[in-house]
Amino acid sequence: MTLLDGKATSLAIQEELRLEVLERLKIGQDRPHLAAIIVGDDPASRAYVGHKIKACERVGFDSSLIELPLNIREDELIREVEALNNDVNVDGFIVQLPLPEHMNEQTILQAIHPDKDVDGFHPIHAGNLSLGLPSFIPATPAGIIELLERYDIQTSGKHAVIIGRSSIVGTPLALLLSRNASRGNCTVTLCHSRTQDLPSITRQADILIAAIGKPHFVTGDMIKPGAVVIDVGINRILDDSKKSGSRLTGDVDYQDAMQVASAITPVPGGVGPMTIAMLLKSTLQASA
Ligand code: NDP
Repeated sequence: MTLLDGKATSLAIQEELRLEVLERLKIGQDRPHLAAIIVGDDPASRAYVGHKIKACERVGFDSSLIELPLNIREDELIREVEALNNDVNVDGFIVQLPLPEHMNEQTILQAIHPDKDVDGFHPIHAGNLSLGLPSFIPATPAGIIELLERYDIQTSGKHAVIIGRSSIVGTPLALLLSRNASRGNCTVTLCHSRTQDLPSITRQADILIAAIGKPHFVTGDMIKPGAVVIDVGINRILDDSKKSGSRLTGDVDYQDAMQVASAITPVPGGVGPMTIAMLLKSTLQASA
């Protein structure tokens, strides 16, 4: 069984990016600059943004964090987004999700200028991706493709089953895996909460991707022997053996799955770190 080590792969990519930044500085170009807006003080969101800012430091990017109160109005947030759109020193920026309930997420995401939308959530990028045109690609599916690439996992002609159809993970991943490109050419089945007899479908998967948000949802008996399993889920569960009283776990029952799968991503240390590496890659692209 191969452990698909997203942490090590992410660090390797970050080292490549660091060297590229040095090359750019040598020829008089500026450091790429990633900005992040965070609204409220949700601990998980703060942790994710913190990892992104730290990664910027590691690769030599400039970064800025704009922290806004939970009760900020939608029009005020849009003004902050527009300020970043117009800031020539910022190459790309993200608005950390989820946003408070009084905000319309789509309104905010669509206010981000596509040239600076390094998360690739703007409809222009979603449209370009579906047409096979150049675009910023959402970092999590991009990270999964990159991981398959770096571990030389063959995808052409394989059956990929994705559980979860969100616009940030499952749907763009379905497009990427089915396109006529490297680490594409899969036959893709996209499953969701209305899918009937899910295990009979997942058992057909050569590549099984779980992006559901339910701890240990995918059990060993749902996996075809020899399948490649990609676990996107990040779930916090109680664990008395930890000082904090909790730990992170994926959507896949890892102990179960490793008896059956040929390769698997751990949680933490799998898809999560790859997401950060791909966000940095998009920022470098935005700064070119
Ligand atoms: P969403 O909540 O947006 O989507 C979950 C999807 O799972 C939906 O399509 C839903 O179906 C489907 N689903 C829910 N229950 C079932 C079920 N019983 N059977 C089949 N499908 C089901 O989640 P996200 O895509 O945003 O995130 C998924 C997970 O990935 C979360 O744990 C999240 O934390 C994690 N994540 C990790 C990232 C990383 O960097 N590693 C990045 C982004 C997310 P329906 O559409 O019918 O409701």
